[in-house]
Amino acid sequence: MLTRIAGGRVIDPTTDRDEIGDVWIRDGRIAAPPPAGTRPDETYAASGKIVMAGAIDIHAHIAGANVNTARLLLPEWHRAAVPRPADTPLSISGWPTFATGCRYAAMGFTLVVEPAVAPHYALHAHLELGDVPIIDKATLAILGNDDFLLRLLRDKESPDAVRDYVAWTLETARAIGIKVVNAGGAMAFKANVRAFSLDDTVPDYGVSSRAIVKALQRAVHELRVPHPLHVHCNNLGLAGNAETALATIAAAGDLPLHLAHLQFYAYGSEGERGFSSAAAAVAAAVNRANNVTVDVGQVMFGPTVTISSDVLRQFNARAQARPNKWLVFDGDANGWGIVPYEYRADNFYNAVQWAAGLELFLLIDDPSRVFFTTDHPNGAPFTTYPEIFALLMSRDLRAEWIAKLPPAATELTTLPSIRREYSLAEIATMTRAAPARLFGLKDRGHLGLGAVGDVAVYDDQADRAKMFRAAALVFKDGQLVVRDGNVVQLRSGRALTVRPGYDRAIDRRLKDYYAERYGLAHDFIKVPEVAIGGPEPFEPVPCAN
Ligand SMILES: [Zn+2]
Repeated sequence: MLTRIAGGRVIDPTTDRDEIGDVWIRDGRIAAPPPAGTRPDETYAASGKIVMAGAIDIHAHIAGANVNTARLLLPEWHRAAVPRPADTPLSISGWPTFATGCRYAAMGFTLVVEPAVAPHYALHAHLELGDVPIIDKATLAILGNDDFLLRLLRDKESPDAVRDYVAWTLETARAIGIKVVNAGGAMAFKANVRAFSLDDTVPDYGVSSRAIVKALQRAVHELRVPHPLHVHCNNLGLAGNAETALATIAAAGDLPLHLAHLQFYAYGSEGERGFSSAAAAVAAAVNRANNVTVDVGQVMFGPTVTISSDVLRQFNARAQARPNKWLVFDGDANGWGIVPYEYRADNFYNAVQWAAGLELFLLIDDPSRVFFTTDHPNGAPFTTYPEIFALLMSRDLRAEWIAKLPPAATELTTLPSIRREYSLAEIATMTRAAPARLFGLKDRGHLGLGAVGDVAVYDDQADRAKMFRAAALVFKDGQLVVRDGNVVQLRSGRALTVRPGYDRAIDRRLKDYYAERYGLAHDFIKVPEVAIGGPEPFEPVPCAN
């Protein structure tokens, strides 16, 4: 099967292409142009259109026990709810698993990473991800508040033991990387601790948050897992927490580290209300630290729901729940907290948050080290991405938005003074080339020979939000799946994993540990191969939201 996407503006930073030309796909992979005169089986005209690789979202909460708990807590936000408030962002954002895949595909996304899978719930997460059509997926397994790891650190066991445990977790949970959430903070919460910073220690274990982060960072690095340790820092959302972000960046040393949703850690304590943007200082620190990558967690205005394994933070935020209901589940290793929330343009704090996120995008110089996320749905649903692309690409559009916000808020940010506008090539770097590299996926995120045939084609419109909202054509593994923003073919995606290998002694040790501590077989959490792919074929039902 030979497909030609003909005459579009091909923007592919990895192969240094920004030119009018063709993209060829043979049997699901990007191919070289065939000899002159060869007739393709299919030709799609792309003149006047932008052609990029399929986009990759590195951090969106789309499946698993925490996401489902949020669904159960907020049935009135579902599409089927009657009566339902006027379309809420979540009700149109692919809140059900099925629509999630369709909505992402319609925007040209072909791979999404679910970043917060507690190992004990990994099977559930994978089964649910299997029900998300079209896109490929991957998961990050959470460690860092679990008794087994903290015991290893408390007892000063060798880095080898930590490494084997990390590798065992990756393989058991079928993950592509490891995330740590408020390292030690969630465990400290069980001892009624309500504030926890990088050098605080977990009661009963005497292990600091810093020590947990460093141990996991080293283990992930030594296992040669491509994705660096993915860190949700301490003190999320608090005034003055830029200090925590700066301290964590400094703690990274020379090894790679990824900081998640950095916007939520970019706050100073200036101004009358003691809350300001410190994004400029945080961005400057990121610019200096070549080993550090970040994603933003941009806030956009509207109702949403915050979903986090940072139970300490979610418990502290419960008074802000809107509607006024919340839930914290404090599981043995990793629980989660659900707090619905509404970001408002006329709210001083929310306006500072919105500006701080854009400052990070615009002040971090290298688009291959700052990644595009809203921490869906924590900052905003993923369906707001097209509006954010447009904001990054136009200072005039930003000025229009800024004019509608409380001046007292925007004065405490540098956003009004920033003139930078992202180019399409920089958008492609941030959403395609760089995320593929960040996860070690050599055959994704680009249109070079042999790459997976994941291609997004957009009408080149002045209204960039409109352009990115509904791709003209999307190919997944070389198959046309979207035309004019509508799904035309449903396919199963697959989950991408890493298996670094480990000394089997840890397996025997964990067998005893699970038997003693839980009365369970340790392999009860093992995700079998059959759970990695989705059901095939999908029922041919309409993919409308
Ligand atoms: Zn997150």
